[in-house]
Amino acid sequence: MRMNHAWNDRYLAPIQVPGQKPVRLNVKEADWDQLRECLLKKDGLERQAFLELGLWEDETRYDLFLHRMWPLTDQDYVFQELYRVRPRGEAVAHAYNAFREAGVPVHGHIHSHPFARRGIFSSVDDRTRRDMARGLSGLARIMDMEDAARCFQMVVGKAPSGFQGVLTDLKGVGIGELNAVRVIGPKGITVHGEGHAAVLEAGLTRDPRLDRNIRWLGEDGQALLANTHVAVAGLGGAGAMLVANLRGLGLREVTLIDPDLVEPSNLNRLSGAGRKDVGLAKVHVFKREILKVRPETRVNALAVGVEDTEARAHIRRADVVLAALDGMGPRAELQVLCARFLKPLFDLGSGILVDQHRTIKRMGSQIIVYIPGGPCLACQGLDLFRPDSGIAGEIRRRTGYVVGTDFTPTAVATINSVAAGWAVDLFIRYLTGMGPIPPYTEIDQWAGTVRQISIMKKLSCPVCGEAGLEGKGEDDAKPMSPPEEGLGFEILDVSKEEN
Ligand SMILES: [Zn+2]
Ligand SMILES: [Zn+2]
Repeated sequence: MRMNHAWNDRYLAPIQVPGQKPVRLNVKEADWDQLRECLLKKDGLERQAFLELGLWEDETRYDLFLHRMWPLTDQDYVFQELYRVRPRGEAVAHAYNAFREAGVPVHGHIHSHPFARRGIFSSVDDRTRRDMARGLSGLARIMDMEDAARCFQMVVGKAPSGFQGVLTDLKGVGIGELNAVRVIGPKGITVHGEGHAAVLEAGLTRDPRLDRNIRWLGEDGQALLANTHVAVAGLGGAGAMLVANLRGLGLREVTLIDPDLVEPSNLNRLSGAGRKDVGLAKVHVFKREILKVRPETRVNALAVGVEDTEARAHIRRADVVLAALDGMGPRAELQVLCARFLKPLFDLGSGILVDQHRTIKRMGSQIIVYIPGGPCLACQGLDLFRPDSGIAGEIRRRTGYVVGTDFTPTAVATINSVAAGWAVDLFIRYLTGMGPIPPYTEIDQWAGTVRQISIMKKLSCPVCGEAGLEGKGEDDAKPMSPPEEGLGFEILDVSKEEN
């Protein structure tokens, strides 16, 4: 049931819709820090920024993802006072034109109330919101995305959780209210606002199954694990060992994704699977293994590949993704999805190089971590977009040591155990904020060496670079019509009221 729009016009009251859903804003830590720094300067003046946002909606909430932002510089304002500012028309036009080209459905506006701890919308802000929605509605008509486009307005105060925000349709009617900001950083995920249960439930502190976890992770660390949803993609030998390492952690939810059935030749390395499991889907076998230890875990068993619609829906809901996949195709798929939805991704690969005289040259694994904002798997050396099937793939396989591809000699339990244990260790350290983790770990078990390196991201990278995909959300948004000459926005004053 929606309230009458005219009613709001007359009384300028905050716009509320009964039954609207909560909104969660997901941002990369560097963006969040930069935003707050730009908006909350020591001089106490109000400042603004425009936001380009990806969107995902499910039954329970809206997720917004910050793709790009345009903080206004002090030269971009007509005037700038303690309680009100007015940006120049050129600055607004620039932001609107950038939005047209970004290919995201939500245009956002954020401003600061640096004089207060809690940012709360004023009546001026409520009017600004409707003006913005009106401006965006004109823009959306030109872009042919009137159905998809949404407007987001947010105000921040000095306190990190002192914010208010509302998602509206193009009439300015609220469809969702911001209740949490999720900041994804190199040292874990921080949640500001509601929905953040940082304290371990009383029952869990006394759960003997978690006692040894709490002794090294503390109750806070265990609380973070107990609130986490992990997706595991790929349940071969390495994936099976991932599950063995994860199942005692007391995770809230685990999503298992793999289309394959258990075969007799897998049994040398599928920890937890037995002869009677041959012919069963691997996801069901490993769901059973998790529930043996913690029947209260919510386990989603999806006997499909990562490109499947349902698998993608679960990955979007997950907090972190662990992957032990064969082949570059599915890994590229997963990397793109994780970039679009700002999900940290831990990728395992392993291999053995045996030369034609059957001498082992190398044997080991690597764990590559993608944290949104940092280098993606492709920037860290994985050849995600090179074909690995057909003739090209055949040549690649014949040339010997191919790390983490469908080259089969990786199917060795000892390598998988080391790689999976190491990866889950990194995952725990990341999630509990115990420190920055190395993005690239290379374990050469044959030589007995471990190398941890950092690789810079390429600014030209189509996934994580300047014109990349991070935070864009789903890509089934309508394709943008190419910008036409002379169609750019000249003037659109979003704060013309004088009070
Ligand atoms: Zn305000
Ligand atoms: Zn990249």
